[in-house]
Amino acid sequence: MCGIFGILCPSRKDVAKHTYFALYSLQHRGQESCGIAATDGTSLMIQRSMGLVSSAFSERELQELYGYAALGHVRYSTTGRPSIENAQPLKMRYKGGTFALAHNGNIVNIKELREQVYSLGISPYTSSDTELMGHLIARNFQDDFKTTLANVCKGFIGAYSLVFLTEEEIYAVRDPWGFRPLCMGSYEDGFVVSSETCAFDIIGAKFIREISPGEMVRIHRNGYEVDQILEPQGNFLCSFEYIYFARPDSVVMGKRLYEVRKRFGELLAEESPVDADIVVSVPDSGTPAAIGFAQRCKIPFNEVFIKNRYVGRTFIQPTKELRERGVRLKLNPISELVRGKRVVVVDDSIVRGTTSKEIVKMLWECEPKEIHFRVSSPMVSHPCFYGIDTASRGELLASKMDIEQIREFLGVNSLAYLSRKSTIEAIGIEYPCLACFGADYPTYIPSEEVREKYALEKNEKW
Ligand code: SF4
Repeated sequence: MCGIFGILCPSRKDVAKHTYFALYSLQHRGQESCGIAATDGTSLMIQRSMGLVSSAFSERELQELYGYAALGHVRYSTTGRPSIENAQPLKMRYKGGTFALAHNGNIVNIKELREQVYSLGISPYTSSDTELMGHLIARNFQDDFKTTLANVCKGFIGAYSLVFLTEEEIYAVRDPWGFRPLCMGSYEDGFVVSSETCAFDIIGAKFIREISPGEMVRIHRNGYEVDQILEPQGNFLCSFEYIYFARPDSVVMGKRLYEVRKRFGELLAEESPVDADIVVSVPDSGTPAAIGFAQRCKIPFNEVFIKNRYVGRTFIQPTKELRERGVRLKLNPISELVRGKRVVVVDDSIVRGTTSKEIVKMLWECEPKEIHFRVSSPMVSHPCFYGIDTASRGELLASKMDIEQIREFLGVNSLAYLSRKSTIEAIGIEYPCLACFGADYPTYIPSEEVREKYALEKNEKW
């Protein structure tokens, strides 16, 4: 996952600052590195850094990024190591000048793209798919961005919400499957694009529309145009955006994610009710579903786990050891609230099981009578190739255990997951991507042998 934000506002010279605050609100989408590119109409400046947005830019650095248009990115790596070389936006030269590029998603046919790039005589300087896309766009540049992107992006398979900043304009493209969200809004005399609407709220921009699968938006000094440059292949928006990734205050496809998550909880309660004394959530992403569950079951909801707000999201820390340590650092239960009680704990998902097991262990230390685990998403049994770090199938708990085995592994009295049918009902899209829940992948994916061989050759994971 990554977060991207672009802004073009002709009357201003300080939009890097707006980008900084927008990235702040998109921080949940990536915590490894961040960057801002800005233009004053003649030259493109870029500042990139490892770590969080709050520590990446000084006031002076933001002032130096002066200009009326800017592009920002927060990164969480799926392809390519966490390193400053892989931080975005990337800067590329093309025959029309220079552009900065930011990407959210993951390309499936990366091996082919890498071969194409090598055949052009280019040795990539990063290990990310974004650089490959950038080279192919730069080298195959035709008369304008619209023609170029229409031709070159046809060769990209997978998830890509891309935003380009040239010396004068912004271009935003969403892949024809619509895996990752991308929306646009207005701000003063200009326009903005963002992975999520929460970035609009923080700067006071107004939402205009979602960018549809296969669409390109060009934003310039006199307004914007939208073109359908790639044939749409459906609307396979990632259901994990609804379940976990996007912020609950963001609106996606006309729905506030808080309400969708609450609905997950209500439907879960209808499917798998339980007789208990208290419902607790795993904060923050499990909370709306826990509230929905509690209301539907008429059981009191209580905040039991107190979160240390200064620790990052455990799921997206790069190593298993860090993730394990992260749970205890992040959550601490108030034991007397659950002692002697029958407890229902609601979490948004179980991916590797590391967090869930640790949470159950912490709860048992509080001496409840029973623990019932409810998960407001289906069983994650398959890897994601579209930008979520569940790459290796062996890491996924539900790929090696059935529900009873997982119950035993967690050490709880009962366990239930939300069904795929109810997940779709709450999301409200006919065919969201549900591939990691054992449904079909919306695109071709390389065989396991190719993935393994490629990973070994390039020292990368999928
Ligand atoms: S496979 Fe899962 S995580 Fe990946 S895009 Fe599809 S729903 Fe999202």
